Amino acid sequence: MPFPSPEPHAPSPFFVQSPPRLGNQYRDDGFLREWLRRKLPEEVLRDIEADLDGMGSLSGGELYEMQLQDRLHEPELTQWDAWGNRIDRIDVSPLWQRAADIAARRGLIAIPYERHHGRFSRIHQFALVYLFHPSSDVYTCPLAMTDGAARTLTVAGNTALIERAVPNLTNRDPARAWTSGQWMTEATGGSDVGISLTQAQRDAQGRWRLYGKKWFTSAINSQMALTLARPDGNAAGGAGLAMFYVEAHDAQGRPNGIRIERLKDKLGTRKVPTAELLLEGTPAELVTEARNGTRAIEPMLVVTRAWNSVTSVAFMRRALALAKSYSAQRRAFGAALGDLPLHVDTLAGLEAETRAAFLLAFELVELMGRQEANEIDDQQEALLRLLTPIAKLLTAKQAVATVSEAIEAFGGAGYVEDTGLPVLLRDAQVLPIWEGTTNVLALDALLRGNAAAGLAALGERLRECRSQLRDDGLLRLAQTAASALDHVREWLRCNGEAASLQSGARRVALTIGRTWQLLLLIEHAHWALEKEQQRTGVAAAIRFAAAPIDSLADISPDDSRDLLR
Ligand SMILES: Cc1cc2nc3c(=O)[nH]c(=O)nc-3n(C[C@H](O)[C@H](O)[C@H](O)COP(=O)(O)OP(=O)(O)OC[C@H]3O[C@@H](n4cnc5c(N)ncnc54)[C@H](O)[C@@H]3O)c2cc1C
Repeated sequence: MPFPSPEPHAPSPFFVQSPPRLGNQYRDDGFLREWLRRKLPEEVLRDIEADLDGMGSLSGGELYEMQLQDRLHEPELTQWDAWGNRIDRIDVSPLWQRAADIAARRGLIAIPYERHHGRFSRIHQFALVYLFHPSSDVYTCPLAMTDGAARTLTVAGNTALIERAVPNLTNRDPARAWTSGQWMTEATGGSDVGISLTQAQRDAQGRWRLYGKKWFTSAINSQMALTLARPDGNAAGGAGLAMFYVEAHDAQGRPNGIRIERLKDKLGTRKVPTAELLLEGTPAELVTEARNGTRAIEPMLVVTRAWNSVTSVAFMRRALALAKSYSAQRRAFGAALGDLPLHVDTLAGLEAETRAAFLLAFELVELMGRQEANEIDDQQEALLRLLTPIAKLLTAKQAVATVSEAIEAFGGAGYVEDTGLPVLLRDAQVLPIWEGTTNVLALDALLRGNAAAGLAALGERLRECRSQLRDDGLLRLAQTAASALDHVREWLRCNGEAASLQSGARRVALTIGRTWQLLLLIEHAHWALEKEQQRTGVAAAIRFAAAPIDSLADISPDDSRDLLR
């Protein structure tokens, strides 16, 4: 005899745990609102607050729901049509289509180019990005490259290309808005792009055509890309490469001498179509000179590293918002998790890391805004140069660690796919890899540019901050920061030799980054004490400094090599 089937919606006779819930992600983020009050003139905040509130509502509401309901949808590549034409069409998820519409209408790329709020426009833009990102299934990947492309073309000053592409890249009309790719990495190397093999040749009409294979190209459904190739006869190395502008389709909508070989089967960012491409005589426009391409594409990297930093913090904030919500509902040992002292201590550690990461990422945003509005002095310029790699590398590491810990805060539920939690960790794991790995950025910070000028500016900033402090706790923390900074300078002085400088570069970069974060926490705590008479900022700084700030060590490169034998 068959079992009687259960009533379709009968309540379970067993205990059922309530899931974590999200509210309006702007209203719920007290720290973001506090920081905006501190940094923005009142009239600017008044002007943009409805925007932020709207994005907070979408992010904690409609988009988050879509994300949970459409977990399994992945981009599809259709290489041929029914009649044998090569079409290489990419279909993306409904959430990506909705995200594209929201991003254009709400000006996620347009805002810093319209620059209605001068140097604060970057803050406006990135506060929206921060709210949008965790519910966008990493639609921020094409947006980052689009912003980077608009900036790179603008800086390069090629009028024809600026007129052709930038109005599309920054368009608020979803039907006209373009996104851009950035095709740099080849199978030979993503860090060392100087050894790229793609060739650029002029055809009979004098038009540049590209031949080669690009190994990682994300957001391959974009309308255009900036890429690197070596003009025939150019020397080896990065200086022999040139930067080119490519459109993905010809006037008839056919692939423009580009074949999508396959989509990558990735650990995370699975909603992002990342492809391997063959360039088979792809028509291309030279953006500037026929060499020095790695230098010409640098503005792209500055912008995408800022996006990486902000999206790292956004993942941290999302993981923590979910973990906090869960801690109010889940009970163990007769109490809500949120009332168990050790669970509270664990989450408080994550909150301190998240605030520190936020302050570092938005310091970068603030400096970028100043630079673009021509309101930057030499000291700030030196800080910006040093901060760009440091913020990217440190916030990405913090994102992976914080998201991992937040997932543990759910116990077994955190490991179960349809809670929507594991994807956070898989997606976060890309942050330390793309746009420059941790090691490559550490070397970039210390060996390229003028690290000494950046460190001097940071030291000056710390001295200025200390001179204003009155709270004993903050004064002690400022001493910790000063000692760490002195140690960095001393270490660099004693380890000028190439092998030891390189082998210690990651520890130096992390120490600079965490010292900078401590300084920013102290500055913020001081402001909150003086202006709003509240001490949570002091608690955050103390908590942050309880984890190591200074990770420098005298480790010989030879010992490390021996360890691996
Ligand atoms: C999901 C995803 C999407 C991507 N999308 C794009 C894209 O759209 N466009 C694009 O151009 N690229 C893209 N990339 C590629 C990415 O930028 C590269 O993977 C990255 O730059 C690293 O390059 P690589 O993979 O060749 O690693 P390698 O350069 O081979 O590095 C391997 C390891 O060696 C280390 N290393 C390298 N050099 C040094 C050194 N001098 N000292 C110490 N350590 C070193 C690195 O830190 C790394 O840990 C994407 C990657 C991923 C995972």
